[in-house]
Amino acid sequence: MEPSRILAEFLREPKIAYLSMEIGIQNDIHTYSGGLGVLAGDTIRSAADLKVPMVAVTLISRKGYFRQVLDAEGNQTERPALWQPEKFMDALPEKVYLELSGRPVAIRAWIFVQRSVTGGKVPIFFLDTDLPENTPEDRELTSYLYGGDDRYRLKQEAILGIGGVRILRKLGLDIKKYHMNEGHASLLTLELLLEYRKDIESVWEEDLIWDVDRVKELCVFTSHTPVEAGHDRFSYELFREIVGEVIPLRVLKKLAGPDRLNMTHLALNLSEYVNGVAKKHREVSMRMFPGYEFSSITNGVHSFTWTCDSMRRVYDKYLQGWANEPELFVRVGRIPEEELWGAHMETKKNLIDYVNAKTGAGMNCDALTIGYARRATAYKRADLLFRDLERLARIGNGKIQLVFAGKAHPKDNPGKMMIKHVFECIKKLRGSVKAAYLENYDMEMALKLISGVDVWLNTPQRPREASGTSGMKAAHNGVPNFSVLDGWWIEGHIEGYTGWSIGPPPSEEMDYIGGRDQQDAEDLYAKLENIVIPMFYENRRTWIKMMQNAIGKNAYYFNTHRMMLRYVTEAYIR
Ligand SMILES: *Cc1c(COP(=O)(O)O)cnc(C)c1O
Repeated sequence: MEPSRILAEFLREPKIAYLSMEIGIQNDIHTYSGGLGVLAGDTIRSAADLKVPMVAVTLISRKGYFRQVLDAEGNQTERPALWQPEKFMDALPEKVYLELSGRPVAIRAWIFVQRSVTGGKVPIFFLDTDLPENTPEDRELTSYLYGGDDRYRLKQEAILGIGGVRILRKLGLDIKKYHMNEGHASLLTLELLLEYRKDIESVWEEDLIWDVDRVKELCVFTSHTPVEAGHDRFSYELFREIVGEVIPLRVLKKLAGPDRLNMTHLALNLSEYVNGVAKKHREVSMRMFPGYEFSSITNGVHSFTWTCDSMRRVYDKYLQGWANEPELFVRVGRIPEEELWGAHMETKKNLIDYVNAKTGAGMNCDALTIGYARRATAYKRADLLFRDLERLARIGNGKIQLVFAGKAHPKDNPGKMMIKHVFECIKKLRGSVKAAYLENYDMEMALKLISGVDVWLNTPQRPREASGTSGMKAAHNGVPNFSVLDGWWIEGHIEGYTGWSIGPPPSEEMDYIGGRDQQDAEDLYAKLENIVIPMFYENRRTWIKMMQNAIGKNAYYFNTHRMMLRYVTEAYIR
């Protein structure tokens, strides 16, 4: 079909525009790096299922985030993760221009329509500067997701925020709310300030032409990280050099901070609705940004996407309609225990075959298999489990197997060291505990892992896990979580019922003290030895009950259908 015909049906009614630097639509469209992008993808999938009038905007990221290559010592190298947009989507003929570093940069959009079996559709616009009229340098601006320096990053954020608003306007879309998924899209507020500027004749003072309240009514902001470094900041000199003086510097400083342009502050000051992604994250965010009111809408995952084939079949048989109505998980008790276990063993065998084929680890299907996969970065403490290797070897000898995966950001050296350390520990455990680290963690591998292991482990330093979503995916497959009480798990955890905690309960004091590696590791080992391992081998019925609870209590709630409906009622239509 003609690209403009594809677009036409979305011009009929006003839409919510969802802007995100990354969106994980499918594994072979490399426009995501990790949790944030997968959440954006899940949000759009649920919006399509629920027929929420939404459109999404992101960058085309033609060379992806990166493909991870690991050598035998765990040294990571990064390769471009090229993909071909023309295989999946259509380029629209419209172009907009944005002046960056004193020259106009042409931007076009590709359209991809996320379709649901319900008939719902959400178009996603991928912004692209790889056009012949741009300089070779500018043609690369939408190539690498989270690549390059500050300058490259600021240009990308200007393309996403300012370019995004311009393209939506140019395409003829009527936008009634702008949802900024993280601060990367905050510059859209400046474009809106220009659009809704008041007539100079009608106001007393020049400053009052900036209709902050009008823009606020239009904007929704979701913050995703309680880590300081996760909030983008740019010097005003750099901003001026690259983007120019969009609004007077004096006014901009009032909105984005006195010393540096803080993307989070800009979004906070120009959004009427602001939220964190878990209850604890809201609390931490309000401490980090005093004076601002945060709401909280705890994240979820897209139920259908994150349920493996064998479990889908069981749910289809006993909980018909579950995919578009995850509340039906409340009836998980209808599934006979043997069938639940059988479905789990089927997907577990797939994973074990895969791990053995990739790594030669020689794992077997009957051993308690523990999974850990997420971005490799220091605060996530992938190596907490290895704090006392002798003890782990003694507790786990022949009884447990470990599967790891995760990429480190190319510039995160401590994250890269973490991978190497996990590799070393895996070697030292040879002969007692089988363990493997899989290369190039992505959505496809994530589904294999979260469904195929028996327990999903998470050991972040409090309170840095804003939400975490991989544990919710595990729960959708009946896999209980064994995790530090942070992020979503504070809300999902019922001890010995939906899974197990690691370390002390959450408290404000804990947030300041930080690590507590020793105490957390101690608890981890003790529970593994005295509760988790014995239950798995000696009390299979109780174990299967826990699997049911993971589904009936955790998947029931921690899904993007519930999350989306809350965004609609609390943020979009108020
Ligand atoms: C779900 C997912 C994540 C996020 O996992 P967390 O537990 O939130 O860290 C990261 N990467 C991929 C590929 C995922 O599928």
